[in-house]
Formats: sequence, structure tokens, C-alpha cells
Amino acid sequence: MNAAPMCPYCKEAVLAEEPAEAVVIYGVGAQVAHLECSARRVIGSVGHITRQCSCYGGTMEDPPGMTPRQAARLAYETFQWQQRNQSR
Ligand SMILES: [Zn+2]
Ligand SMILES: [Zn+2]
Repeated sequence: MNAAPMCPYCKEAVLAEEPAEAVVIYGVGAQVAHLECSARRVIGSVGHITRQCSCYGGTMEDPPGMTPRQAARLAYETFQWQQRNQSR
């Protein structure tokens, strides 16, 4: 059995049961990335989503102590939560 592909964003293994998508990294080529890590490239950090980052005059980005994978997951969940709450 082949080793699990490595996510180019968080450098952790992309396991078969995790949501993933193919991405093309400039200079590297097609890679398999976690869905959350790929989405985070577009939606930004937790601080950005909640408008507490430097773009909005704040200082928050990702909560300290989180791995890139955990931060991406949290950003993705925060983004989805916000989308649900804004669409009403
Ligand atoms: Zn990842
Ligand atoms: Zn920002």
C-alpha cells in the first residue's frame, strides 16, 4: 500500500477518510491537499474571517499553539458557521 500523500499546505498526511482535493502548486505540480487547507488559502486565517486581523486594524490571526492543520480546520469551520449565519 502506498504512503498517504502529504498535504502541501500543512505538511501532514492526507488520509483516505479525510476530505481532500487536488490542487496545483506553482513549480511543483498537482498535489493532494486537505479540503480545509485548500479552502484556507482562499478564506484566510481565523482572525481574517472574524475581522480581527491586521486587515481590520486588529492583531489576531490564528489562535496560538495550533498546528497549520488545526488552524485550517478551525478557519474552515468558522467560515462555514459565518456563512450559515449571514444567509438568514
Ligand atoms: Zn493540510
Ligand atoms: Zn486579514
